[in-house]
Parts: sequence; C-alpha cells; structure tokens
Amino acid sequence: MEVQYWDRERETMDRESLEKLQLERLQATVEQALKTVFYKRRLGKIGITSGRDIASLQDIEKIPFTTKNDLREAYPDKLLAVDRDEVVRLHTSSGTTGTPTVIYHTQHDLDSWTDLTARGVTATGATRADVFQNMMTYGLFTGGLGLHYAAERIGMIVIPSSSGNTPRQMKLMRDFQTSVIHATPSYILHIHAKLAEEGYRVEDFNLKKAFIGAEAHSENTRKKIEGLFGMEVYNSYGMSEMNGPGVAFECVCKEDMHIWEDAYLVEMVRPKTADRVPDGEEGELVLTTLQREATPLLRYRSGDLTSLNAAPCACGRSHRRIKRIRGRADDMMIVNGVNMYPSTIESVIMSVPEVGTNYQICIEKQGSLDRLTVRTEIYSKMFTGDIKALEGLKTRIREKLKSAIIISPVVELHEPGALPTYEGKAVRVFDLRDKND
Ligand code: ADP
Ligand code: ZN
Repeated sequence: MEVQYWDRERETMDRESLEKLQLERLQATVEQALKTVFYKRRLGKIGITSGRDIASLQDIEKIPFTTKNDLREAYPDKLLAVDRDEVVRLHTSSGTTGTPTVIYHTQHDLDSWTDLTARGVTATGATRADVFQNMMTYGLFTGGLGLHYAAERIGMIVIPSSSGNTPRQMKLMRDFQTSVIHATPSYILHIHAKLAEEGYRVEDFNLKKAFIGAEAHSENTRKKIEGLFGMEVYNSYGMSEMNGPGVAFECVCKEDMHIWEDAYLVEMVRPKTADRVPDGEEGELVLTTLQREATPLLRYRSGDLTSLNAAPCACGRSHRRIKRIRGRADDMMIVNGVNMYPSTIESVIMSVPEVGTNYQICIEKQGSLDRLTVRTEIYSKMFTGDIKALEGLKTRIREKLKSAIIISPVVELHEPGALPTYEGKAVRVFDLRDKND
C-alpha cells in the first residue's frame, strides 16, 4: 500500500501534541467568537468573557450547543467575527426551508479550507498527474468550489464541469481522459444509466477514482459504483457550516473517514438528550471550528449520525475516523411504529444484482396504517416478458427488506429511466402521510 500525505507532519502528529494544539486553538476560537454579536451575548450569559475561561478541552462542555436555528437567527451578520473588509467570500444555504444561513470566509479561512480538502484528495492517492472532473454544483453550494481549489493547488488538471448536462459530462470524460471525478453517488449512478443511450461504454473512459459525498449512501452503493465503472470510490464528508467538503475523507485504506482534528473539535452526543456518547457508539456529530476567523462556530449540532473509530489506521494518520454517515437524525422514518433509516433500505436494494441505479421510497396512509412502497429501477434485461421471474425478484427484494427493517414493504419494479433523477442531492423519500390526513 502506497501512502502519500499532503501535510505529513500535521496528519501524523501524535495525540498529545494534537490535543495541545486543539486546546490552544479552542481558546483562540472562543476569543474570536466573542467578537460576534451572537456569541458575545450567549457566552456572556454563562460568564465566559475570554478564551482563558476555557482551561481544558473538557471545558468545552460549559458552552451551549449551536444549532442550525441559531444560524438562521444570526442571519445575516450576527455571527461575523471580523471586519467586513477582511471577508473575501460568503456561502449561504439554499433557504428553501426558511431563512438561509450564511458562512463568511477570510482569505485565511479559504486557504485552510483548501489545505484540508487537499489532504483528503491526496489521502486517496490522487496526484497532480490526474485529470479531475468536478461534477458537484458550483456556486453557493459548497460542493463545487470546495474541492476545486484543492485540486488546483495539488496541480491536477481541473475540469470545472459542475453538475448536470450528462452528455457533456461524458464527452469531457472521454475527450480529456478524466481520471478522477467528484459527484453525488446518485449522479454517478445516473451517468452509468445513460451511458449506452449516449453511445458510450465504460471502456471509452480512463476513470480511476471517484469522490462521493453530499448524500447519505451505503457501503453497497459504493461497491455498486466501483463494480459498474471499475474504479476506486472514496467517501467524502462535509457541510457548509464547516466550510463544505473536506471535513472528513477516506484514505487509501477505504475504511471510515479521517476527520481533521486540528481543524475541528469532535464530539458525539445522543440526538435527543445531548448526552455524550462513549467512543465507538453511534451518535450525532457535534463540531467546533478550530481555525476559522470569519465565522467561528462552537459545538455545532450537525444532525448527522455516525460513530468515532479511534483505532490506528494503517495509513499512519493520527486523526481519528468517523464511520459512513447513517443519515441525519431527522431522516429517521417511523412506519407503523417501527423506526428505520432510508440508508438501511438503500443498502438492501443495492445489494441485489438485478437492481439498477435509481430508487424511491414512499410512505402513505392506508386507513389507519402506513403503507411503505419501495420503487426500484431494474436492468432492462429483466423485462423479458417472464412474469414469474419478475414476481420472484419482487418477493426476494421484499423478503430481504423485511429482514432488515422488520416491516414488509410493497415493492415496485420499474424500467430504467422511469424514476426522476436529480443533478444535485437526490430526493429519495416521499412521505405523503400528512397530506392524506
Ligand atoms: P444542506 O445542509 O442544505 O443539505 P450542505 O451542503 O451543508 O447542505 O449538506 C451537508 C450535509 O450533507 C451533511 O450534514 C450531511 O447530512 C450530508 N452529507 C455530506 N457529505 C456526506 C457523506 N459523505 N455521506 C453522507 N452524508 C453526507
Ligand atoms: Zn487512514
């Protein structure tokens, strides 16, 4: 196994030095946060008026959590910690579900973000010899720009294709022999579904690696993409509140994602009670920025469910790892009293070889009960007119699902291309229960 680093010293630093650095940076971050209207008020209430009030990493527990709602209330500038002159960029959330949130960046913030994403990209073995086609949306959404600068800094040939326009993506991939792509897992699956229609074969391309992120997905989806394209697929995690991509990334070992602990202080809590979760148990990831100037965030509740893996990694990096994200705590669905996550359903259907590249989950009311329907596209070779085979496949999928989620869903099989596709984050779950009430 060949291991390469972007910043060897930082990435392999021993635990003790790392924690010392974290404390120094935490104190500086609290000091910085006190410059914002929002934290001055909030921390003032509990008597924190200087970074020195935090004497140890444990002391962070004195500080209240910051939530997405706090960010909305602080909109547009109550979380700005620097002079407007210092700000060189801002990213806002889409705001489709209410007031948007905003994160400001100084040049220092952008440089350190670039540095963190460059660590992740390098950890997968990508180099300046690669051609990088970035199919994440450019713009206010951080997925595009977040990796763009890192890839340039590494010296890759960057094709900023952004999302969408699938025929053009394919032409670019073939003409420039793209070796690394970055996209949502759903979009990569969609590309595969469209290849033949556009007159391409996988062999026309030179794909070696893909970075996938922005959506919850299962190990089976990774395996599926790897199998379809014959490339290595790496999980990449981030969120706009923590810059964007580059918070955590898989290394060549492809087992959980290193989270850059010199930049983010990691805590794991129970979603409902906010109690601390012991190492290794699943909880909601809570992050504190440790090197951000313009918008420092303290104990931000990500909403994402994962667990910490503190075991040493064969790559030699000392930064702990987080497991593949199960989903957001509020993705949990309760169907006829049974709790389940969409990612569990995804994991099951993606393990069935006949299942194609798209699926949908629908929940409706049927009398006093809930009805769960799982719609999957299956490969066209299955539609031979052999009804028995299709019924058999349906039963097989239903039984597999039942053993994973306890309840028995209605399974529908669809032809390739029948279900809607998305250029950015896919919408998989349609909960129609409220509307039918
Ligand atoms: P929004 O919060 O509006 O979806 P973001 O771009 O900030 O916009 O999305 C960040 C969220 O996307 C994360 O909090 C997480 O839920 C999800 N996400 C990002 N990367 C991954 C990943 N690799 N695996 C699973 N979920 C991810
Ligand atoms: Zn590693």
